[in-house]
Amino acid sequence: MLTSLPLKLMIRSAGYCVHPEWLTLKGGSLRPVKFPAGYACLLHPVHGPILFDTGYSARFFRETATLPNALYRYITPVHFREEDSAAAQLQQEGIAPEDVRYIILSHFHADHIGGARDYPNARFIYLDKAYAAVRKLGRFARVKAGFLPGLLPADFAERSLPVSAAATIGGLDSTAKPAASWAASFSPGAPLTPESVYDLLGDGSVLAVELSGHAEGMIGVFVSTTAHDYLLCADTVWSSRAFLEQRPPHPAAGLIMSGRLDYKRSFERLQALRAWHPGLRIVPSHCRIALDNWGKGVLE
Ligand SMILES: [Zn+2]
Repeated sequence: MLTSLPLKLMIRSAGYCVHPEWLTLKGGSLRPVKFPAGYACLLHPVHGPILFDTGYSARFFRETATLPNALYRYITPVHFREEDSAAAQLQQEGIAPEDVRYIILSHFHADHIGGARDYPNARFIYLDKAYAAVRKLGRFARVKAGFLPGLLPADFAERSLPVSAAATIGGLDSTAKPAASWAASFSPGAPLTPESVYDLLGDGSVLAVELSGHAEGMIGVFVSTTAHDYLLCADTVWSSRAFLEQRPPHPAAGLIMSGRLDYKRSFERLQALRAWHPGLRIVPSHCRIALDNWGKGVLE
C-alpha cells in the first residue's frame, strides 16, 4: 500500500462539457466527445467525507451569463442538471453537505471548483501557488485561465489551508514529509522523491504530488483502499488512453495550458509512475473509462 491508512473511495462526476476529441488526444477524431467533470469523495475514518474537487454546479451558468465570462461557455459547452451536482449525489448516499469538512482542490479551473460553495463547513486544501497564479488576474486573463472567482465562497481565504513546500497546513498537523510507508516504498528508480510528496492530512492517508503544466500548481493525490492504490491525477491527462497509448494532446491544447514543458514533464512522470507501480489505478478527472471502471459504489 502506498499510503499508511486505507480509506474508502467514491469516484463520480458532476456534469460534463463537450470538446472535439483531437484537442485532447493526439490523432483523436473531429467529433465532439463528452468530458465528465470528475470528483472523488474520500471516506476518512477520522475526518469523515473529504472531497477531491467538486465538478460543476448550476452557478457555472450564472457566472458565465455575461461577457467576458460567457466566452468560457462558448468554448466549452457545459451540460448540467441540478441533480448532477456532487452535493445532490452525496446527499443520495447519505452524506450531507454540512458533513464535508475538507475539500482538496487540484487546481482552480471552473469544472473543479464549481461546487465549492455547496459545503458551508468545508476548509479548502490546495497548493498555494495554484491559487496565487489565478487570484490576481484581470477579467479577461481569468477567463483565459479557466478561473471564475464567483464559484468560490466569499470567505474562501478564511477557510483555506494552503500548502506550500516548506510549510505546515494551518490547523492540521501536516508537513511536506511523506508518510513512513511511502518513504519505505521508494526504491532506486522511483519516479518521485520523498521530498516531493505532501502529506495533506498529516496522517499519511492522502499524499499529494505537484503535477503542474495543465495548470500552475496543480496537484494529484495518492490514496489507498484496502485493495488498491489510486492516483487521482486531475487533468495531467484528459483520458486514460492518452497515457496508455502515449498520446499527449494536440499542440493547440497548449493554448489553455499554463506551461507546455511542465505539462510534458508531468505526462512523463505519470508514465514513469505507471511503469514503477503497474497496479496503480490512475484516475484522470475527465476520463470516461476510469469512471466506467471504478465510478460505481464505494471502493474498499
Ligand atoms: Zn483543468
